[in-house]
Amino acid sequence: MTVPPTTSPARTVAWSSPLRTRFRGLDARDGLLVRGDAGWAEFSPFWEYDDAESAAWLRAVREAADVGWPAPVRSSVPVNVTVPATDPQRAHDIVTASDGCRTAKVKVAQRSADGAVEPVGREVARLEAVRDALGPGGRIRVDANGGWTLDEALRRLPLLDRAAGGLEYVEQPCASVADLAAVRRSTSVLVAADESIRRAEDPFAVLRAEAADVVVLKVQPLGGVRACLELAEQVGLPVVVSSALESSVGLAAGLALAAALPELPFACGLATSQLLVHDVVDEPLLPRGGEITVRRPEPSAAALARAAADPSTHERWVTRYQRVGALLDGAAA
Ligand SMILES: [Mg+2]
Repeated sequence: MTVPPTTSPARTVAWSSPLRTRFRGLDARDGLLVRGDAGWAEFSPFWEYDDAESAAWLRAVREAADVGWPAPVRSSVPVNVTVPATDPQRAHDIVTASDGCRTAKVKVAQRSADGAVEPVGREVARLEAVRDALGPGGRIRVDANGGWTLDEALRRLPLLDRAAGGLEYVEQPCASVADLAAVRRSTSVLVAADESIRRAEDPFAVLRAEAADVVVLKVQPLGGVRACLELAEQVGLPVVVSSALESSVGLAAGLALAAALPELPFACGLATSQLLVHDVVDEPLLPRGGEITVRRPEPSAAALARAAADPSTHERWVTRYQRVGALLDGAAA
């Protein structure tokens, strides 16, 4: 490959949008769109990630912008609706408004600023509301983002399993691989690994410890669609593709991965454009009838006018993009 065309600042646009619901401690999301010969890509590592961790995100961007993605084997991808750690009425409303999603992912293990974990009764009430909204046929998973201690996970999971009328799986109940393995040995609920794959030095530690039944893969943090396909093959467990809260330009990469996986037994976490007040394309990647059609939308001038970041944010993103690029090229040299 010659010098990537993606290094020119003229081919970059920073976007920014408020979130409809506070999520992952964020009230807004932003990122940088980068245009290469193969199309538009999105570079949007969270701001607390340092340059070394952001390098994988940039590898995914270069693949999208300069190379493109493998051919899809399916034309649409079933997706879950995501329910933040909110009150039962709002949880019910979010599921009802999800346009046919048959799987709900419910956030649990929320901690307040003083470190206290949300009382289990509120998690139970949220799950009961979601089951009511979804009806008997839908699937419910919970995501603790590693937020429970092992003891909390073991005490709560039977209660939450009952409240949900059966959990599809629990995602990252605890932070450590050893605790994931202990949860898996001690409960009948399937365990999915998310942070233990994408923020780990060694994603295969999960396999060696027999700590998961399912793995969650995200394209940007794991360095691209092809890198994820290789990892999925090596891991040999069912894969759920999730977003990193991107605009539809970034979501398209997750969709390309979900579309290219040989097997896709679970709904994917790619319906997150719903959380953005402004997306960067005219027709965001939103589900219809619980599925997103596989496609690669382009940013439009009108949408970008609504979602454009202010000049100082643009400047911060371009600087970060160039700095991480120099790091990646330095490492490759
Ligand atoms: Mg997760």
